[in-house]
Amino acid sequence: MFHSGFHNQRVSTFTEAALDVSHDHPAGRYARIRDTTRVHERTLFAVPRIPSELELQARWFAGDFGRRFVSTTGDQIDIVQFGVWNREAGPDFRDAAIRINGGEAMHGCIEIDLLDRSWESHGHATNPAFEPTVLHVFVERSDRAFFTRTFANRNVPQVCINPTDLAGAFNPNIPLAYPGRCQAPLKNLPEARLRGVLDAAAQFRLQQKANRIRNKIDVHGRDETLFQELATALGYKENKLPFTLLTQRLPLRSLRENAKDCEALLFGTAGFLELPDLEIYKKSTREYVRQLWDRWWPHRDALQRLILSRTAWHLTGTRPLNHPQRRLAALAVLVRDWPRLQRTSGKSSVAAANDFFQAMEHSFWNFHYTLTSKASSKEMALIGESRAADILANVLFPFWAAHEVKSNASPSAQLWAEYVKRPAQLSNRRLETAATRLFGNDPRRKDFLRTVANQQGLLQIYEDFCMQDNSDCSHCPFPEQMANWM
Ligand code: SF4
Repeated sequence: MFHSGFHNQRVSTFTEAALDVSHDHPAGRYARIRDTTRVHERTLFAVPRIPSELELQARWFAGDFGRRFVSTTGDQIDIVQFGVWNREAGPDFRDAAIRINGGEAMHGCIEIDLLDRSWESHGHATNPAFEPTVLHVFVERSDRAFFTRTFANRNVPQVCINPTDLAGAFNPNIPLAYPGRCQAPLKNLPEARLRGVLDAAAQFRLQQKANRIRNKIDVHGRDETLFQELATALGYKENKLPFTLLTQRLPLRSLRENAKDCEALLFGTAGFLELPDLEIYKKSTREYVRQLWDRWWPHRDALQRLILSRTAWHLTGTRPLNHPQRRLAALAVLVRDWPRLQRTSGKSSVAAANDFFQAMEHSFWNFHYTLTSKASSKEMALIGESRAADILANVLFPFWAAHEVKSNASPSAQLWAEYVKRPAQLSNRRLETAATRLFGNDPRRKDFLRTVANQQGLLQIYEDFCMQDNSDCSHCPFPEQMANWM
């Protein structure tokens, strides 16, 4: 069973008027809720003939093994949250929570393997990405006792599952995340009320960002703050840290003072100019790299300790257009054109900002994906439309709001009217998870994600309620609060 009796009771109480389920038999009521709350988001893999690790993981996540286990050391393990599929490096499921012997909920990740020793043979024991693991699940135990140890030498509780307990054919449609308890009641609420809540959450989020920026301006000044925020946005999403480090180590003021060397300083300190052999570069690239080197070497000794290591960067898994080297070049152009950016930003105008981003040019990077790639015959924007939209939503609007209003005040009506007009460009995994949690298979789901404001509102609700919840929705106050929302 996925949900506790208490959970079902709360859902049915809230929705009884709309669904008229109050007089149903509890099992029938449960079946109805179960049918409507298990959405099949997308197929992750075809049905394999031989059960695989992926299949086991999927069945685990589907709850087919149950949610109450006894660990290999005899402890009672309750799964409070199954979490979500992890699409990045690290354990199979993240944002999960377990309880040991009825104690406090422990948040973290869950790893599932066929063999207990896969933890070691797959290198998880020495991989810091596996540090947040709170539970190791496997099918086969080794002859000799095996302890699941993390990089920091923490002992992770183990649960051994038995696939022969499973009945029925395997269902290939595995959800990315489960719809939460509020999915059913939200479905019955008028659209205007839902939009009202999303708008309020988005406005709160914008105000919070503005407050954070205002505090940062107090510490670093307006220009350095804008520079750092823009760099963080360019580092989206795996490279936020190295971009932030770069702007802290090479402040805007020092780059502007060394305007001619700015690009070389950024590439050198990023650690992208460490390869000594020009021969590894394509012919069309050599001249550009040589110029960077010539400008970088005079500074190199002084900046040696600040050079980022190669491991600071995530260079794979991003779209070629978004390669951090292209983004770094964009940052260099922002420094070069800073006075124009200052004037643009001062206008608090979406059109002016878009014009600025569209006009950004670089003779090399308009035609290259990386330092070592072949030249492209097609010209590519340095900052594309979706990145510009992201910068507007997450940097410039909060920046403008920080300037316009006092701390903790709502953004002005004019700024807000502009903000709610912004169409959403991209979705992402976090948003999709949030949408599944709150809206499940509600046909209006897409409509609630069409604008930047709606997306930001949804993320705020997800962070404020879903991420804070230790009870698999049972004790989350959001559904009841929604009912009373006017
Ligand atoms: S935790 Fe709360 S807001 Fe999130 S899905 Fe569950 S009931 Fe809804």
